[in-house]
Amino acid sequence: MIGLISATAAGAAARDRLAAAWPHRTRVYEGPVGPAVRAAFAECEQLVCFLATGATVRLLAPLLGDKAADPGVVCVDEGGRFAVSLVGGHGGGANELARAVGEFLGAEPVVTTATDAAGLAGLDTLGLPCEGAVAAVSRALLDGEPVVLEQELAWPLPPLPCSARGSYTVRLTDRDVRPGEREALLRPPSLVVGVGASKGAPAEEVLALVEGALREAGLSPKSVAELATVDAKSEEPGILGAAERLGVPVVTYSAGELAAVEVPNPSDAPLAAVGTPSVAEAAALVRGGELLVPKRKSGASPAMATCAVVRRPGRGRLAVVGLGPGARDLLTPRAAAELRRASVLVGLDQYVDQVRDLLRPGTRVLESGLGAEEERARTAVAEARRGHAVALIGSGDAGVYAMASPALAEASDDIDVVGVPGVTAALAAAAILGAPLGHDHVSISLSDLHTPWEVIERRVRAAAEADLVVTFYNPRSRGRDWQLPKALAILVGHREPATPVGVVRNASRPDESSRVTTLAGLDPATVDMMTVVTVGNTASRTVAGRMVTPRGYRWQSGRTQEEAR
Ligand code: SAH
Repeated sequence: MIGLISATAAGAAARDRLAAAWPHRTRVYEGPVGPAVRAAFAECEQLVCFLATGATVRLLAPLLGDKAADPGVVCVDEGGRFAVSLVGGHGGGANELARAVGEFLGAEPVVTTATDAAGLAGLDTLGLPCEGAVAAVSRALLDGEPVVLEQELAWPLPPLPCSARGSYTVRLTDRDVRPGEREALLRPPSLVVGVGASKGAPAEEVLALVEGALREAGLSPKSVAELATVDAKSEEPGILGAAERLGVPVVTYSAGELAAVEVPNPSDAPLAAVGTPSVAEAAALVRGGELLVPKRKSGASPAMATCAVVRRPGRGRLAVVGLGPGARDLLTPRAAAELRRASVLVGLDQYVDQVRDLLRPGTRVLESGLGAEEERARTAVAEARRGHAVALIGSGDAGVYAMASPALAEASDDIDVVGVPGVTAALAAAAILGAPLGHDHVSISLSDLHTPWEVIERRVRAAAEADLVVTFYNPRSRGRDWQLPKALAILVGHREPATPVGVVRNASRPDESSRVTTLAGLDPATVDMMTVVTVGNTASRTVAGRMVTPRGYRWQSGRTQEEAR
């Protein structure tokens, strides 16, 4: 039961809404708040006090006893803006209650317990079936008690804060084991059962064969991902029926694909019937994996079904995540979600620092200093190939002069790759400058560390001739100071000296600065590596101090006519 206590009319209104929504879970304690809190504390498992935290703390203080037995208490302020988990966050369920009350009343839940605040993943949110002592192990994780992760096969799990020793265990297994008293089992969909069946084979026969094979091999039916067979059997009722009973899909492959798979037990019968020397073994093995149960026939006579079981470890997952130009609110929600999804984070130390607070406890961080780009890329791919969920981070967009290319140049097709776009410096700067990118534009990096200067110069020349708006990345550093003047000189050959130029340093970072000047007026010495420089096209204008590139040449001429009038 949840005891509800309030002091004022506003509190009582919120209290009554909650009581009406949860009639069987709540009890309203009327009268002076002192006795009401004492009565509710004695009689209820949880309390929601529509009172100031100070008042509630004073009333509760003499009543508090044992963390394990005391009720969980949530405070809601007069304005209904916050639902504060005050005591009994885990044991008393106050964190959960704060969230539920917050959701109902439109109040922000305030949870200050360390692990919760860091957004730890509950075992039941990992997307895998789990069984055993799920609640107890989840609670141990939340309470920061040592939990051991026994991962029997590679799987791209989100981070779990696990230790080498401890009395609780999370076991990732596809074996048919019983969970220990303090053990939760996670069931990865790692088993593929290949099946073959003669026309009209009964579903019971296929099912008994599959279940028997799993049982004898000590494997859990809960880890079966799919039944696999040949295209010709895609409508075979016995296979469809068995799959339905197991609650898994049927996946089919062409006879040609299956014939190309090397199997230990080929035979002539399926070759004649469907055009491949193996159905069960080949269909189970076609996407790779380890053959755990070679082809076996059903016990019926005549046997109408065959099956084979393969273990396919989880594919690693590489997320290439752009963090945006700097400000936290320019980091996309999707990027934040991928950072929490990854159990391994790879990146430049300064970018890691930028997002450390977003990471879940248990995330393995592999950070390195400037340079070492290729090594970072290789590390990220290697970790993903080991079956981990990896996030490789970069500032702005991770694909723009950044880590995505070296990483994907290394990556093989045995990992999944997810790209999360980020706000690149050119866009962040454009928004500050006005609307400089309103027509065709290019980005050019002036760094000649990896690109010969002749190539860069050719591109600058082409952009100048094509009248493209140009944003220069990596415009100038201590050791590279002649490139920017040279590039600007090329543009001067094709544009008026009054062409607007926008200079933005540290876009969206605390020490952001920007100015709009002109091709003739830009002093390259004021530009450094924290800066992008955007040069307008021949139609770009400065309007009210902002840089504006018209949408099109026709609009522009329309505007000129208007101006002429
Ligand atoms: N992947 C990054 C670019 C990396 S190249 C992105 O998409 O933004 C590094 C160059 O980007 C710097 O030399 C600078 O020219 C530019 N840059 C990156 N962040 C910036 C910011 N916040 N403000 C201005 N320029 C920035």
